[in-house]
Amino acid sequence: MTHEDVAPVRAFWEELGLPGLFDVHVHFLPPNIQRAVWAVFDSAGPKIGREWPIRYRQSHEERVELLRAMGVRRFPTLPYAHKPGVAAYLNDWSRSFAADVREVIWSATFFPEDGVAAYVAELVEAGVELFKLHLQVGEFHLDDPLLGEVWGLLEDAGVPVLVHAGSGPVGNDYTGPASMERLLEQHPRLPIIVAHMGAPEVVPFLRLCEEHERVRLDTTMCFTDFFGQPYPDSLLPRLADLQDKVLLGTDFPTIPYPYVHQLEGLARLDLGDDWLRAVCWENGVELFGLGR
Ligand SMILES: [Zn+2]
Repeated sequence: MTHEDVAPVRAFWEELGLPGLFDVHVHFLPPNIQRAVWAVFDSAGPKIGREWPIRYRQSHEERVELLRAMGVRRFPTLPYAHKPGVAAYLNDWSRSFAADVREVIWSATFFPEDGVAAYVAELVEAGVELFKLHLQVGEFHLDDPLLGEVWGLLEDAGVPVLVHAGSGPVGNDYTGPASMERLLEQHPRLPIIVAHMGAPEVVPFLRLCEEHERVRLDTTMCFTDFFGQPYPDSLLPRLADLQDKVLLGTDFPTIPYPYVHQLEGLARLDLGDDWLRAVCWENGVELFGLGR
């Protein structure tokens, strides 16, 4: 593959002496859902709030090939439900995609609805590797009573849950740290990955990460020119200390800039090569393993 975006990405990890990249925030959705999501971004609708020209609109096959060519060794699919009744469909599609593409971190989602504990338990039993929730899109709180049983199950099983909880790009009554704070009081050992480092509420989410052994942050879109630096410089030493709990995430393919720009954004924080190696590779391998 000779896509122009490949060489700069490979140069980044080769210079760090890494075998590739581990990206915990990539989306692959059923084609009809993917088209609907992209239509929302294209219209800069109320949940987006700005122009958002998506760079990677190729077919699924071409996008998998591009990730492989760039050296992204593992990546998830991260489905998320916007209403009751669709999680099962998304999860079935995601499961078969994971079975077909060896690099995929098998991902699923759930929604506060009848039967949720049963299908989450089944997926955990079957070996699902990661769940994704999107509070802004789904419009629910993490401590919704319908999810009560699910959290104990996931805390025991130790399956990570990647949550878009921050109020970016446009907040609503369900975004922000409050429902995660309440949830972690009840289930302090839940392995949660905070998407986008919780931006714009980076300070309270950073604190949750510091105070809970299994709460981690993903870098998705943070420190890029498009998204800006959500952290005041004064917080960077704390981010340096969290070296083992920050995971590379990009939001590929729904990004308005070349993939390498996420990596440049992390490099220019100047937290050192060890920090970059941990974030872009080692922490992901530690949490999910190298897969098949
Ligand atoms: Zn995302």
